[in-house]
Amino acid sequence: MTNQAVTRATFDKVMVPNYNPQAMVPVRGEGTRVWDQQGNEYIDFAGGIAVSALGHSHPALVGALKDQADKIWHLSNVFTNEPALRLASQLTEATFADKVFFCNSGAEANEAAFKLVRKYAYDNVGPEKHEIISFNQSFHGRTLFTVSVGGQKKYREGFEPVPAGITHVPFNDLEALKAAISDKTCAVVMEPIQGEGGIIAADKDFARGVRELCDQHNALLVFDEIQTGVGRTGDLYAYMGLGVTPDILTSAKALGGGFPVGAMLCTDKVAQSFGFGTHGSTYGGNPMACAVASAAVSIINDPKLLDGVKEKRTLFVEALEAINAKHEIFKDIRGKGLLIGAELVESWHGKAAKFLAAAREEGLMMLVAGPNVLRFTPSLLVEADEIKEGMKRLEHAIAKTIEAGPEA
Ligand SMILES: *Cc1c(COP(=O)(O)O)cnc(C)c1O
Repeated sequence: MTNQAVTRATFDKVMVPNYNPQAMVPVRGEGTRVWDQQGNEYIDFAGGIAVSALGHSHPALVGALKDQADKIWHLSNVFTNEPALRLASQLTEATFADKVFFCNSGAEANEAAFKLVRKYAYDNVGPEKHEIISFNQSFHGRTLFTVSVGGQKKYREGFEPVPAGITHVPFNDLEALKAAISDKTCAVVMEPIQGEGGIIAADKDFARGVRELCDQHNALLVFDEIQTGVGRTGDLYAYMGLGVTPDILTSAKALGGGFPVGAMLCTDKVAQSFGFGTHGSTYGGNPMACAVASAAVSIINDPKLLDGVKEKRTLFVEALEAINAKHEIFKDIRGKGLLIGAELVESWHGKAAKFLAAAREEGLMMLVAGPNVLRFTPSLLVEADEIKEGMKRLEHAIAKTIEAGPEA
């Protein structure tokens, strides 16, 4: 059974249809290259979904995993373990945070954060201070609480009743937040750059204003850095570039470089509301996951690597602008570091997925962010010649897609 031949068709037969994966099945990756079952080679500008920040099969991550695999795999939280303690020390030394809670995914990190903001307000003020404010088009994960805080209705529809006490306001609109926030607000939750929502950055003034309003109303500020964190924007975490410090920060995706791990970081004061027995996770802080994440953070939290992210962005943006000069397909090229969004012109709105399929046929893996935006989240180690070759493939894909027309 385990050696049975499997293909993309097997997916439709045995998998729940909540995904619709591309036609090929990748089997091997190295750096920014991936190969499928037939041996076709792809350049990977997706990196999972902003996950494989050091590319595929990075020797230091493979080494960390193998080393730990020979020592101990799992302990539960009845015992602590060295890799978790080391990773937590690295994260607290490198950020505003004093304390860390580990879990296995982004949604779980947010679930912990959203429970914590409620509990903190409950402990310090009372049950009436329970309202959470977040932003339209935001994305915070797929559990019931996280789709409820998330600002995209389509992810909630059909799953009601959802948790109550959550308000959504327009992003980058400080007046709207001012009107919604009150002393009943326990937290404001935001992504420094909305990822799934279309690569939309928070204005610096807006972020500063959000911080001030939170302070005025004794509400906590939660930054969801699951997509922006761990080097993606050219800072270890995007809040550093924004100059606004949250009370709680969630991290996942690139944190494990492809191994599942999530973390919620917070101040010591806030952490006290997660006293013994209040929250937990069987696998959270797993030694294998923390050993790999520890290696990833060590490599990424390096000024040279982070400066490299800014340089590689320039190459990406220049190449996209050159494509646009020829094909007039992008309305806007945006984002920060290697979190890059290219919004399609109006006549192609709703058709972003077409470019993804065409790119795959040209040997390029990439992403969309909603129906109107092409998204690129490559390895932070992507090389100049790989950017050049990938962009050549992208241009072919774009030319072919335009030739077929938006209704094809
Ligand atoms: C991906 C993502 C999540 C959810 O992470 P999972 O690991 O899929 O649960 C939450 N917030 C943001 C900003 C994300 O990009």
